[in-house]
Amino acid sequence: MDLAALKRDLDGLKIEDNEKIVQQKSRDFYWYSPVLKRQLDHVSGDLVVTPKTQAEVIRVLAACHRLGVPVTPRGTGTGNYGQAMPLSGGVVLNLAELDEIVAISPGRVVCGPGAILADIDRATRAHSAQELRLHPSTYNTASIGGFIAGGSGGVGSINFGGLRDFGNIIRLRVVTMEAEPKVLELTGEDLHKVTHAYGTNGIITEVEMPLTAAYDWVDVLVGFDSFMGAARYGNALACQDGLLTKLITPIAAPVPQLYFKRHQKFLREGQSICAVMVAPHALDAFLAFTRREGGEIAYNAATARDEDKKGLPPAYELAWNHTTLRALRVDPSITYLQSLYPFPNQLALVEKMDAMFPGEVFSHLEFVRLDGNITCFGLNLVRFTTEERLDEIVRLFEENGCPIFNPHRYTLEEGGMKQTDAIQLAFKRQADPQGLLNPGKMIAWENPDYDYRSGKTFLFKGLAAR
Ligand SMILES: Cc1cc2nc3c(=O)[nH]c(=O)nc-3n(C[C@H](O)[C@H](O)[C@H](O)COP(=O)(O)OP(=O)(O)OC[C@H]3O[C@@H](n4cnc5c(N)ncnc54)[C@H](O)[C@@H]3O)c2cc1C
Repeated sequence: MDLAALKRDLDGLKIEDNEKIVQQKSRDFYWYSPVLKRQLDHVSGDLVVTPKTQAEVIRVLAACHRLGVPVTPRGTGTGNYGQAMPLSGGVVLNLAELDEIVAISPGRVVCGPGAILADIDRATRAHSAQELRLHPSTYNTASIGGFIAGGSGGVGSINFGGLRDFGNIIRLRVVTMEAEPKVLELTGEDLHKVTHAYGTNGIITEVEMPLTAAYDWVDVLVGFDSFMGAARYGNALACQDGLLTKLITPIAAPVPQLYFKRHQKFLREGQSICAVMVAPHALDAFLAFTRREGGEIAYNAATARDEDKKGLPPAYELAWNHTTLRALRVDPSITYLQSLYPFPNQLALVEKMDAMFPGEVFSHLEFVRLDGNITCFGLNLVRFTTEERLDEIVRLFEENGCPIFNPHRYTLEEGGMKQTDAIQLAFKRQADPQGLLNPGKMIAWENPDYDYRSGKTFLFKGLAAR
């Protein structure tokens, strides 16, 4: 890699080559996984380039294409799969400064990919009492471009499903990695070429997202004597069409007591919980429903005293992958697995899998609406012992009909797709003919003959070489 020539070509752009800073910007939350930690700990880019405009992005891509330098885009690096880690080195393309909110209108917002999700909502709320339909629990730190290229769903998915669903992204502007980069406007079916493609198919330089009515969501923790009590309640609440919620998260004891340090005082020993965000106008009906279902209100932000609320994280920062983060802060031996409990057997599957690994796997569910049906994902905590045992737990979930989206793998296919996405692969041939965008993340590109059902983990050659 002729980095000196690259720096000359990019003269005038913001470039960082301090080894420590470059390494820091080459990381994401891969360390949640003991497997990825072992495999990726040494990974680093060579330069961080921070463009301020789309024209600067085009300059970087054209220069890197000419010199054969890999480019790995980065939002704010909160992904979990090593998605934003440059396995072949080269340029880390930091998109944080493309963060302009361009336009807000009824039902839509247009902004740069580097805009932080909470900042987008602040702007749309102030403009016209609107907010994004869904966001990850990393709402306060993650970028919208990183969410689209690396995330899947989160808070709000109980109403709107995931990012993969039609209508949850309106339009993306994408720049290709060619001698003369093209600027493409993608809508409808074409969006699937770049969503959840880890930035392997082009750089997103503008997004247009749908909005919904904004509310001052009320955080409530509902307590139950058993985990299945919390799970059944979560399912029933999600099925109440008249009650507007944004988050329904059952979590098994002793997770809340051990790891939710600031909420511990509200919880009884052995109590499993369901964390809920409910719209203020639905609160009375929600409380009546909860009473009828036998739930105990452990915490209600609408009636809590100011001194009780002081320093409490929002409910969504107990949920989705923040549950894992809180556990890891207390017990570094904890990791996690993401699973789906398919509709219509979700509760029976939850009960079966919850009983299978006592003291080793702790259930944590997120209720979502998928293709019109209520079901749940698991982001279950796992007390890690060995990689072999982790693989065995994955196998047992899958054999019992619960697909795993494996957060201990850095490739798109092994992380959940389980098959080559033919549309994404065909588009990559067009948009990145030299395979320079985030190399090593798409098995189908690196090794079309690879049998990823073999049970072996794919090892990217470029990773071994560095
Ligand atoms: C505590 C915690 C909780 C989380 N909760 C959730 C959750 O609820 N739901 C969820 O879906 N995820 C969740 N995540 C994962 C992650 O936080 C989100 O997906 C987040 O939206 C990623 O945004 P980012 O800016 O950090 O992206 P990054 O990590 O920087 O990038 C993610 C991927 O997108 C690519 N990329 C970034 N910007 C662009 C661009 N402009 N063009 C093309 N490619 C690009 C990167 O190369 C990388 O492959 C969680 C992670 C943590 C650590």
